[in-house]
Formats: sequence, structure tokens, C-alpha cells
Amino acid sequence: MKRNVSVVLVVLLVALLSLPVLGFELPEGFVYVTDVIPTVQLEIRYFTDYNFVGTRISGYNAPTAILTKEAAEALKKAAEILDEQGYYIKIYDAYRPLRAVEHFVFWGADLADQKMKEDFYPNVDKSLLFEQRYIALRSGHSRGSTVDLTIVYKDTLEEVDMGSPFDFLDESSHHGTDQITPEQAANRAILRDAMVAAGFEPYPEEWWHYKLENEPYTDKYFDFPVDLSEDRRWQSFLDEALKKSVARARQTMNENIGGPFGAAIFDSEGNIIVVASNSVLRDHDPTAHAEVNAIREAGRVLGTHDLSGYTLYATGYPCPMCLGAIIWSNITHVIYGARPEDAEAIGFRDDFIYRFIEGGRADSSVLLIEEYGRDECVKLFEEYAENQKQLY
Ligand SMILES: [Zn+2]
Repeated sequence: MKRNVSVVLVVLLVALLSLPVLGFELPEGFVYVTDVIPTVQLEIRYFTDYNFVGTRISGYNAPTAILTKEAAEALKKAAEILDEQGYYIKIYDAYRPLRAVEHFVFWGADLADQKMKEDFYPNVDKSLLFEQRYIALRSGHSRGSTVDLTIVYKDTLEEVDMGSPFDFLDESSHHGTDQITPEQAANRAILRDAMVAAGFEPYPEEWWHYKLENEPYTDKYFDFPVDLSEDRRWQSFLDEALKKSVARARQTMNENIGGPFGAAIFDSEGNIIVVASNSVLRDHDPTAHAEVNAIREAGRVLGTHDLSGYTLYATGYPCPMCLGAIIWSNITHVIYGARPEDAEAIGFRDDFIYRFIEGGRADSSVLLIEEYGRDECVKLFEEYAENQKQLY
């Protein structure tokens, strides 16, 4: 009898192991908000480390917003009302798995960890965050019909001034606070009026938090991760890298620090390690291209010269110097935005370097290369080899 049980177990195990790895699929009744509201902006803070905990929250595998169908349809109505007034909605968080709330609770118990206090709860004692309802032991977000959001101007995508930032756990974030200006209060009212008209209820302590009044699950808490299918997940990583690279490049370009070039390096889980941009003009450094700056910064942050397994996004096709730097760094996957001819169209020309290399580095009008002092230098090389130093 016992033997039969173990045979059955082995058969089951083999059957399980031979199943194909299935991609993530949304449970019945849930949708991606981006599929329902194409203009929605996302800044999923719990996917990043810029939140009150200071690290990516458990269960956030992709920077996306999931809601019940009913909540997403209602939110679409709010988005349409706001669209007519010149705003898009921007979501910080939507459906939140139970395991994420457990992560908050676990963090809340560790009173020594106050890493993000200054930015998110400077005036509230960490030990009181739960008591004062800023963080719940069980969040309505896990029922799938609650959303944290703000509005942005349609033309600039800049956030409207609400008087306090998202997840600023403070009295100034309450509805009806006297700690904000009349304009800021009016801005909160623009969002609130549209959300209430669409069937959502505000939350008194947080201006960004809305729950669908007639939510389909009143008593059911979900724990599936915030995730995407493989293809969509990868695309979401690229969108993040693209957005951050362009924003950084635009900023430094406008400050006359360098050209319109940005780059980001991220890992296989979509964590962006660094964002950098061209700083040739400010640094008086002709090698300070976005990609080289990103590689240098990533090396510093990670404490290694070996960036194997990381991916680099660049706003423009990397020049030969950067391609060399990327290959030296052991990065084996590069994604670029603009093509070489797009850079050429605004006067940046990498072509002649490629032609010089393809021509066997013989064109002395580009660069004269001569040999001198070989014996001395080879001696130095041999010392390195004898000492069995690290090769890279
Ligand atoms: Zn370059």
C-alpha cells in the first residue's frame, strides 16, 4: 500500500514537472486598465523602490494596473469626464495582492526601519501608521475595485498639484484638510467630482484613494500577483526604460549638459539599476555619452565591472565607442530608440568612425596610429600575466 502511494507520487511529480511553464493569465473578472483606458498613465510605485517601504513590494512582478471589469469600466467614465477638462488619469496602484499587504505589515512591525520616513511620513510616528488608518491590515485594494490615482495635464503629462504627494501619510493628505491652498483643494475636487460621478467613493484620509461603490467582490480578497504575460511584461520593462531615459535626456538637454541622449540599465526582473544621459558639455568629457555614463554608474552601484545579465536601453543607436563599452561590460542585449540616420539628420555623425574601422583603421586623415616602445610595454604585460591577475 505504502509503495503504491509513493509510485503515485512519483508519477504525479513527473507529470507536474513535464507541464509546460505557463505564462501569467489574469483571473476571470479582472482586466488590465491600459486595455480599457488607452490614455491612462501608470506610475506603479510598489513595483519600484520609491514608496514608503523603500523597496519593491511582494507580488508586484510588472508595472501594470489590474482592476475588476466593473471598476475599470467605471474608471473609464471618470477618465472621459476628466479628458474633456484637459486631464488624463495617472494610476499609482490598483489591485493589490494580499502578499503585498503582508509585506506592509511585516515592514510596519520593524520600527527600526525608517528609511523612507522623510519622504512619506515625516510627521507621523511609524508605530501609529496602522492605528491612524494610513495602512490597513487588510486592504480593499485586494478586492480589486480600489484605485490610487491622480490627474495629469494632457499636454505635458505633468501631475496636477494636489498639495501633498501620493502616499504622503499625513494630515495634509486628508480630504478637507486646512493645510493646503484653495487651488490645491480645488484640484482635489476636480478628481473627486469625476470619480464620484463615475460611482467611486473617496477615502477621507487619502485624496488619491477611491473604491468602487458597487464593487463586485465585497468579501473576497485575492492574492494573484500583479503581472503580465511574458511578452507584455518585457514590453512594460522597455516602456519604463524608454520613459525614464527620454525624461532624463530631455532634462539634461534643456540644462545644456549634453545632447538628446539617455540610457537605462535594467535587470531581468525589470528593476532599473541606473538612468543616465549625455553630459559631454558639462563635464568637458567627449566620452561622457549616455551609455558610458550608465555603465560607469551601474558599475559603481552594483560594485562590479561585470554587467552580465543586464539589458541596456538607449534613446539612440549606440556609437562605436559606446558599442565597445557595452561589449566590455558584458551586457549582451541592447535596445535603442532612434536610428543612426535619425541622429545624422540633426548633425550627429558616427558614420566616419565605422568607416575608419571597416577600412582597417588605415585612413590617417581620421587617425594616425603608430607603434613605439613595444619591448617596454610587452614586459609590463608579461608581469601582469606572471602575477596571474584577473582577466576581464
Ligand atoms: Zn556613444
